[in-house]
Amino acid sequence: MTLDIQNIRGQFPVLDQEVNGKPLIYLDNAATTQKPKAVLEALSSYYTHDNSNIHRGAHTLADRATRTYEKTRSAVRSFLNSKEEEEIIFTKGTTEGINLVASTFGRKFIKEGDEIIISTLEHHSNIVPWQMLCEEKGAVLKVIPINDKGEILIDEFDKLLTEKTKLVSIVHASNALGTINPIEEVISKAHKIGARVLIDGAQSSAHLEIDVQALDCDFFVMSAHKIYGPTGLGVLYGKREVLEAMPPYQGGGEMIKEVTFDKTTYNEIPFKFEAGTPNIADVIAFQKAIEFVNDLGKSNIRAHEESLLTYAVDKLSNIKGFIPVGTADKKVSVLSFLINGMHPFDVGMMLDASGIAVRTGHHCTQPLMNRFDLEGTVRASFSVYNTKEEVDRLVESVSKIAKLKNK
Ligand code: PLP
Repeated sequence: MTLDIQNIRGQFPVLDQEVNGKPLIYLDNAATTQKPKAVLEALSSYYTHDNSNIHRGAHTLADRATRTYEKTRSAVRSFLNSKEEEEIIFTKGTTEGINLVASTFGRKFIKEGDEIIISTLEHHSNIVPWQMLCEEKGAVLKVIPINDKGEILIDEFDKLLTEKTKLVSIVHASNALGTINPIEEVISKAHKIGARVLIDGAQSSAHLEIDVQALDCDFFVMSAHKIYGPTGLGVLYGKREVLEAMPPYQGGGEMIKEVTFDKTTYNEIPFKFEAGTPNIADVIAFQKAIEFVNDLGKSNIRAHEESLLTYAVDKLSNIKGFIPVGTADKKVSVLSFLINGMHPFDVGMMLDASGIAVRTGHHCTQPLMNRFDLEGTVRASFSVYNTKEEVDRLVESVSKIAKLKNK
């Protein structure tokens, strides 16, 4: 199905504005996507009509809010195809999901001398929690190297896997380069030696079909704001048997069954991991973001984004001084690049002067940038509401900027 992009754009009020006197071209979608009207209206409607704390109240508003909140859990279950709703835990985002696993699974199951494997492509949020855990436990962090295209070296991964490996935590799609990792292979190899696997789905969940049962991953984490939903909200999927074996994350209301001053017993999953009043409004609005994606169809979204990426790479490659960074065979719609002789930040500022929003810097992947001996890159990332005309304007601006240093 060909998507009606103009109609889709009409659902995103933020796109209809000028920046520095030029129509906004928003190409910072890997950092966060814009929100459709349905999400904005759901937020406002909740606070206008339904605001109430959930799960505990006997009154009508509490019941209404609870049911709508839990409907999102059900929508996320089918979005990820988990077996059970109880395996879906709401978090603050991908970062909190990983920290939750590091501090609970890690606390119980990682011992001195154990090994955790990540890859060179990881976002800081899939590096630092494991470093902290390893430091505390005396465990060892190992890193899968990559080739110059930005693809992990699977043979090297094979060598890193040992009977000491307890966890492999790997990004599905790289935020800095766009590389899609062969996670099916990683999961199956890790499982053969009895290690658990966490997939960082922050960048994949908006673009790729996710089926956690088919993947057989033990954990999958994502952020709502990267798929047209609100900020400060995410999802941790975990297999029931693993979640049940893990100790709670934070202590407080909701996560308990019974409290006395002598002893507390804990609630069932998912509530065991959802202490305190959650982000009710954003969870409720997230349902509308999921509906938005489902209505368009992920394969249609992906086809459109891929066509923009291919078109952009073709056009930009003709520009003298344009240097792509990350040329993996399989990519989501992320285009990292440099302009010969120019600092990425300066390029970003010049693009902003033309109304074009891109990200510059290390993209929270400093070790990956070090691998390429770079301080950072310029990153354009495409979403379903971007158009070929916008890519043309990017190309035109990059071409002008490149000419300053590349005669
Ligand atoms: N992992 C990847 C691959 C990301 O791209 C990001 C955000 O950019 C994160 C983790 C962290 O997500 P959040 O800041 O929403 O917790």
